[in-house]
Amino acid sequence: CGIVGVVGRADAAPRLLDALKRLEYRGYDSAGIATLVDGHVERRRAEGKLGNLAAVLEASPLPGTTGIGHTRWATHGAPVERNAHPHATARVAVVHNGIFENYAELRAELEQKGQVFETETDTETFCRLLDDLLANGATPEQAAAAALKRVHGAFAVAMMFAGEHKTLIAARQGAPLAIGFGEGEMFVGSDALALAPLTRRIAYLEEGDWVVLNEDGARFFDVQDNSVSRQVRTTAVSG
Ligand code: GLU
Repeated sequence: CGIVGVVGRADAAPRLLDALKRLEYRGYDSAGIATLVDGHVERRRAEGKLGNLAAVLEASPLPGTTGIGHTRWATHGAPVERNAHPHATARVAVVHNGIFENYAELRAELEQKGQVFETETDTETFCRLLDDLLANGATPEQAAAAALKRVHGAFAVAMMFAGEHKTLIAARQGAPLAIGFGEGEMFVGSDALALAPLTRRIAYLEEGDWVVLNEDGARFFDVQDNSVSRQVRTTAVSG
């Protein structure tokens, strides 16, 4: 029910956990964080309160300066650790709010291609769709653009790619998403409140937009993949 992400210069996991705490008011049943460690996707997830995730992270810390985090309000698949986000393959990790309405037909198509699913979620379908595109030579941007055209529903999503520790891609279709601008760092969150301790400089995605975040900025695209600019405002939200 909440999304956060950081392309940063400091340890990502504590920042993501703090940002998730700021989204707790939305409600959730489980939570998780993924970072890139030596280019590989690593994740920690837990059922229940963020305190449980914090305990998992304490016992088994997650290094890495780029990462994504999620609080889940289950719609497809039981609220258990296996179904908690981030969902991941060796190539890509995904956090998602909302619903991919056409996930069942996409899942059948991907299973035919040999993708083996580990969860009951609609989200894993998007993750494996990206994985399939990446496996066939697409760049992260190409994979995101193509995958976003295949899914229907109301959602927000953030993606992190193995070997791409300076990049996150996020998209909005029916659920708000805020992009935060730091000093040599970039952030994404479900709202400006989640990002308030990290930055006050915020741009909002418009309906259908997707965005590529690098350490020094954001490139915005509309639903037709046209390059667009989105206004950065300084918010009054207090940290
Ligand atoms: N539909 C997804 C799931 O059930 C995302 C739910 C959410 O918005 O947290 O895992």
